Amino acid sequence: MMIEVQSLFKRYLEQGKSVEVLKGMEMSIKKGRQVCIIGASGSGKSTFLHIIAGLENAEDGKVLIDGKDILRLSEREKAIFRRENVGFIFQNYSLLEDFSVLENLLIAGKLRKTSASVLKKRAEEILDLLGLENKKEARITDLSGGEAQRVAIARARINEPKVLLADEATGNVDEAMSKKLLEEMLEHNRLHEVTMLFVTHNLQLIPYFDECYQIESGKIKKEEKTLH
Ligand code: ADP
Ligand code: MG
Repeated sequence: MMIEVQSLFKRYLEQGKSVEVLKGMEMSIKKGRQVCIIGASGSGKSTFLHIIAGLENAEDGKVLIDGKDILRLSEREKAIFRRENVGFIFQNYSLLEDFSVLENLLIAGKLRKTSASVLKKRAEEILDLLGLENKKEARITDLSGGEAQRVAIARARINEPKVLLADEATGNVDEAMSKKLLEEMLEHNRLHEVTMLFVTHNLQLIPYFDECYQIESGKIKKEEKTLH
């Protein structure tokens, strides 16, 4: 299994009150699978992805990525593991606004032991593939929503991760562009055997995936989806 989630519980404290967001989640994803996670706003989709990436802690449960029990790692070990293995596309992009498109990719990649010239060449190739060849030197603040979305996808690829966690990665573009971007992502992932968890509230995207899960009332269940 590439991603295995066992009995995962997560609670937040809100104004002194404890709110249980994840109430015993289970999921097993094989290597190379393209998986969507659907659920209403506030159902815990972002929380779930953040925990899988080791960006947030959980009260109980296990998350195994390629056999590694990531919630048991130290913060430093988590950061290293993430950098080596996981690409994350944040719902709000989380790009560095004072930097250029190319710099955003280089900064995300520079901690890894890759030479600067190799990294720059790789960043440029990724940007070309995503149709950002004319935006490399542009500031993040000068981009359209769709362009920023593509930069967030590009940045998640800079370290060539085998696991991609995408939080509404096509959520801010129109329907046609959303499908086009998703098709590009799926093609890339299949070519490079990347396993993807793709969170969306757009039910129209379901047929594109190998399998789909739904989050509801703190539980996750596999959807018997209709294939196209
Ligand atoms: P989704 O991504 O499905 O919209 P989230 O995972 O962002 O849902 O949030 C799930 C629930 O957890 C929501 O009720 C939200 O208010 C709550 N929540 C998320 N993050 C925090 C936090 N840092 N502190 C307190 N509550 C939070
Ligand atoms: Mg969310």
